[in-house]
Formats: sequence, C-alpha cells, structure tokens
Amino acid sequence: MGPLLHRGRRRPVAAPLAVAAAVGVAACATNPATGRRQISLVSESQEKQMGQQADQEVAASIGLYPETNLQAYVQRIGEGLAAHSERPGLAWTFRLVDDPAVNAFAIPGGYVYVTRGLVSYLTSEAELAAVMGHEIGHVTARHTVSMISKAQLANVGLMLGMILRPELQNYGNLAEAGLSVLFLKYSRDAERQADDLGLRYVTRGGYDPRPMTDVFTTLERVSATEKKGRVPGWLSTHPDPGDRRTRIGQEIAALTTPPGTLGRDRAEYLRRLDGMEFGEDPREGFFQQNVFYHPEMRFRFAFPPGWKTSNQKQAVGATSPGEDAVVVITLAQRDSPEIASREFFSQGGVQQGSAWRGDINGLPAVAHGFAAQTQQGVLRGLAAFVSHQGKVFQILGYTPSSRWARYDNVMAEALNSFERLTDRRYLQVEPKKLDIVNLPRAMSLREFAERYPSTVPLETLAIINEVPVDGTLEAGQPAKRVVGGNLPDESPRSLRR
Ligand SMILES: [Zn+2]
Repeated sequence: MGPLLHRGRRRPVAAPLAVAAAVGVAACATNPATGRRQISLVSESQEKQMGQQADQEVAASIGLYPETNLQAYVQRIGEGLAAHSERPGLAWTFRLVDDPAVNAFAIPGGYVYVTRGLVSYLTSEAELAAVMGHEIGHVTARHTVSMISKAQLANVGLMLGMILRPELQNYGNLAEAGLSVLFLKYSRDAERQADDLGLRYVTRGGYDPRPMTDVFTTLERVSATEKKGRVPGWLSTHPDPGDRRTRIGQEIAALTTPPGTLGRDRAEYLRRLDGMEFGEDPREGFFQQNVFYHPEMRFRFAFPPGWKTSNQKQAVGATSPGEDAVVVITLAQRDSPEIASREFFSQGGVQQGSAWRGDINGLPAVAHGFAAQTQQGVLRGLAAFVSHQGKVFQILGYTPSSRWARYDNVMAEALNSFERLTDRRYLQVEPKKLDIVNLPRAMSLREFAERYPSTVPLETLAIINEVPVDGTLEAGQPAKRVVGGNLPDESPRSLRR
C-alpha cells in the first residue's frame, strides 16, 4: 500500500504540479536535444520550480530507498550521463525510490527516478545507465514539460471527483491520482526520441550500449510474469518493448565508433546489490486470502471472501466479483473520526444515513450509512472512520443503490472486521532480500536453486539473473538469489473466518 497506508513518514499526495497552472505564456524555441522547434508553455525557471515541488511529492509519497551508498551511486551514474546531454547545466537530481515495481520516470527540471525494483532486476551498470539515459532524454527533449501542460486539465477533474468516483473498479487509480500526472503516456515518437537520446548519452559517456537491448528483454519477461493489470510502469508507459529492442539494436549495430567498455562488469554491479530489499515490502501491508495485514500500522482487515483485492499506493481495497461493489480503506488526514466523518458528509451530493456503530472492535469509530448522487446514479454505502495508533482510517463500502440489498450485510461484516494486529509473527515480517553468491563452478539455474535456495519462483530467479529457466550460470560470476521474507502461516483465527 502506498503513501497513505505505507509508512508513518509518508503523507498524501497533493496535486504536485499546481504551480504549472499559473503558466500562460507560450514560447517557441528550437530544442537543443531534438533540433525541433517546440512550443512550450513553461519557461526554464518555471520548469525547475515545478520539478522541485514534484520532487518533494515523490519523496513524500513513494519514499526514497534508505541506503545512501546506492543513492550516491545512482546520482553518480546520472550525472555522468547528463554531463553529455544538451542540458548539462540543469541541477540534475537522480534518486532511487523505494518502490518494488520495475520502473523509471522523469519529471521536469532534471529529476530522474529509478525504482529499487528496477535496480534489483538489472545485472550491470550499463543496463541501469541505459534506462537512465532514456529518462534523461525525456527531460532534455522537454517531453516531461509538454506532458504536464496536458495533464493540468485532467488533474483538476480528478480533484473534483475525489471521494466517490463513478467507475467503481478504478478506485485504485483514483487513489493514485495525485501522482498519475507523472505516469501519463508519452507518445510513441517521444519514446523513440528518448531511446535515441539515451543511446547518445550512454555512448558519449563511454558505456557499452549493447546491454540496452537486454533491458528490453528483462522488462518483457517481468511483464509476462506479472498478474494481469500489474504491468510494470516503465512498460505500461512505454509501448512495444519488442519493437524498441529491435530498432535500438539496429542503431547500436550501425554505430561507427567502437562500443565503450564502461559498465560491463557484472560483479562490480551485483556487489552493490547484496542485501537489497527485493519485491513487495510486507511491512507495508500484504494479503493472505482476503485478509489484509498491515504490520507497520498494526491493523488487520477481512475483505469479503472471493472479492478481488488490491494493495495500491494510497488505498487498499477489494472489488466484488461482478465489479459492482467496492470496499476501500484510505487514511483520512484528520485528527478524529468525528471531524473526518463531518468532512465526508459535507461533500456535495452526499447524504448521511443512520448512525451505524460507535466503536469497532474497541477502537473509537464513527460510522454511518450514506447515499451519494453521482453522474452514474445513486450509490449507497457504509462509511466508517476509525481511530487507531494516532491515525484515522476511512473505510468505505459502496454499490449502486439498486444492488444495496445484496451487499449491505457483506459490507457491514467487512467494516466490522477492522481490528488491532497483535500477532507477533505478523508484526515481525521482513522483506525479501537479494543475496549475491559467488559460484565456484558453472551450474544450471536449477542446480543453483537447489544448492542455494531462494524464496522466489525459479522463473523470477531466471529473470533477475538474465538466463532462461533452463539456462546455465557461468563459473566465476556472481549470481543473485533471494532470501528471507517468508510470511507466517495463516493463523487459525483467520482460517476460521
Ligand atoms: Zn520513456
């Protein structure tokens, strides 16, 4: 779960780029990276200001990976590439964000982010440089700026529809509205351009450009193993990785200068990854069946059995099999259940129904039925505001009014299940970590998995080591395995439910 329900240090994402809304002056200039004439509504100083503001939001909502050596490493690679760009004078900032998704993104003003998920899947600095070069390309070509100009309108619309959005099944996306402007799709042209610029910077920086194609392969493999609807961001915002791989491969082959040698040393890269967190961090919430556990926030919640659950950046929720009902938990940024409830019911079109409960499993709570007029008709539901550990949790269950009789009991039962998490086995969960192993001799991946057991499937092990499942790991090269992070066996209590 993301910023709202992640960790205490995180806070909700406000619309990060509101500053851009004030911008009205259009300028037309030749872009030094692309050589094209470009209309921009945003001046360079405004671009920097937007970047600074959005950077703070990224740090607050996604969070930075708390390892200074790796942060410095990422910054150093980025600076080395950006120095060869057409905008070397920007105050370039490169950050490693604490996100298990395999992703990278850039925002205006020279801010580039790579996720720990991405770094953990790659196998050399040259690969990482390839991704960072591509993102630098989006900044130098000012794709990020034009994207944000387009995003402003959308953002205003999202603010208005904040609590009750008609498309029930999309509540997770709604919850991410604040940051979604950062992940808008670039055009295919923009992607090609960023690939070309990335290749230019990587080559000028002395890196071997060939591993660029391996990055696309890894991204495709990750994408193939992800559950439906969970395509890694870098892919979902970047069309056709296969085509891009072929095209960039041809461009690399056509280079007239011999390839650089920088960044090819896998051992050097992998050593830096030893002990790095891998995959989702269960301390930030995880599901077992339909029960959600949040060790850091110390609560447990049973979503209706058989519903499709999802742990999103700013919300955790579940959708009925027919996608006509939702139960979703977010954090209300208010001091008490009473204030949060009053604010909820002060929204236009929201009517308060009868009081429903005064406490939930001993936790102070305010709960009411409600009805809400939306563009798609009337919704009915239950709204509970629960105080726990100094935070107020907002739990909503809702459905179109016509389906209410079918779901009211199910929702009431779910809302009633919010309770303190006290089981030590759950409170003490740890994330999985990468362990770098020096192989005494060549061995098949299967043998490696037997001799050095991992807590991820063989398929994942194959992807992070860039070999086929039936492939062989070379002698004298370090290999990645994944250790720890096992979740407790489900408690008898949760099974009984
Ligand atoms: Zn891109």
